[in-house]
Amino acid sequence: MKPIYVTQPTLPPLEEFIPYLEKIWDNKMLTNGGTFHQQLEQALCDYLGVKHLALFTNGTIALITALQALRITGEVITTPYSFVATAHSLLWNGIKPVFVDIDPVTLNLDPNKIEAAITPQTTAIMPVHCYGYPCDVARIQQIADNYNLKVIYDAAHAFGVKDKNGGILNCGDLSVLSFHATKVFNTFEGGAIVCPDEKTKCRIDHLKNFGFVDEVTVVAAGINGKMSEINAAFGLLQLKEIDKALAKRKIIDARYREGLKNVTGIRCTNVGEHVANYAYFPIFVNPPNSLQKGGIKSRDTLYEKLKTNGIFGRRYFYPLISDFPMYRSLPSASPANLPVARKTSNEVICLPMYPNLENEQVDFIVSLIIEFLEDF
Ligand SMILES: *Cc1c(COP(=O)(O)O)cnc(C)c1O
Repeated sequence: MKPIYVTQPTLPPLEEFIPYLEKIWDNKMLTNGGTFHQQLEQALCDYLGVKHLALFTNGTIALITALQALRITGEVITTPYSFVATAHSLLWNGIKPVFVDIDPVTLNLDPNKIEAAITPQTTAIMPVHCYGYPCDVARIQQIADNYNLKVIYDAAHAFGVKDKNGGILNCGDLSVLSFHATKVFNTFEGGAIVCPDEKTKCRIDHLKNFGFVDEVTVVAAGINGKMSEINAAFGLLQLKEIDKALAKRKIIDARYREGLKNVTGIRCTNVGEHVANYAYFPIFVNPPNSLQKGGIKSRDTLYEKLKTNGIFGRRYFYPLISDFPMYRSLPSASPANLPVARKTSNEVICLPMYPNLENEQVDFIVSLIIEFLEDF
């Protein structure tokens, strides 16, 4: 049997991409805000229901630039339970990350623990909508307003996610998307910053082009963060199929939940009513007799068993960011400060989740998990 990975991009038929390439060949405009770049920015604003959006070469450069656009310095409060790029974007700006524990249900920054981490050096909060589950944006905004802090959301997982008030990408000062190949919507590599006003969008556009404002004026030590025309064209093509892809993900999510609902020792997420994008399917492994198995985590035993059977889940997010060498000596990285994140990180496996995953494959994965728990 062919291996099944945690994700697999949905590619449109190759011949549908050819006309886009022909246009690029005709125009000879390869990058620097060409036609497809402009079209994709507009199309994404329309689809996502946001006012302004600046495309980037990837999500990490977008995060780094978002911090620069708002001139963030000093300390920034963030989550240890994320992809390492979240905190790396702070280090790239000489900012000190301050880790705060997560909520056990949403797996996002716990708003109850944010205030205690604020110091005179704190200038911003960088929460993550982990797995596309919305943060408690109202509470976070309230804290930010009280302490005069900026909020930059790492929304890399949250393409198209809505909460009861609409698209969550309009929350905070800026939101950053990733269009990496593994994400719900991809441009091979890519990303974007969502911003509320024209002026900020302008500053971001300068920063992603070396700081150039015009031919002879450079206003900041900007970077090269521009998305190319090929990537933008591919994005336009992908966007046509995104609703179908999200609908398929939803069906797979439901099938996993049904298959696993009575399995003791496996917990699925339960974040309540919201329009999710089903970007990931995390499960948490904690069999009742796991303590007797001393030493080896039951999660890792299951992870290996799945692998042996050609199922390549991923332990997103293990290790915690705060456990990597460049972070672990920070006071906020201490295990005592992050008990919920640590427990979650030790129990999680993200199961394969992508639109073309077949019912039989989902059922096979579920049967392996059930078998594992019976043997355990
Ligand atoms: C993927 C991801 C990023 C980085 O995006 P790239 O486009 O790969 O640079 C940042 N944060 C989170 C939470 C991610 O999952």
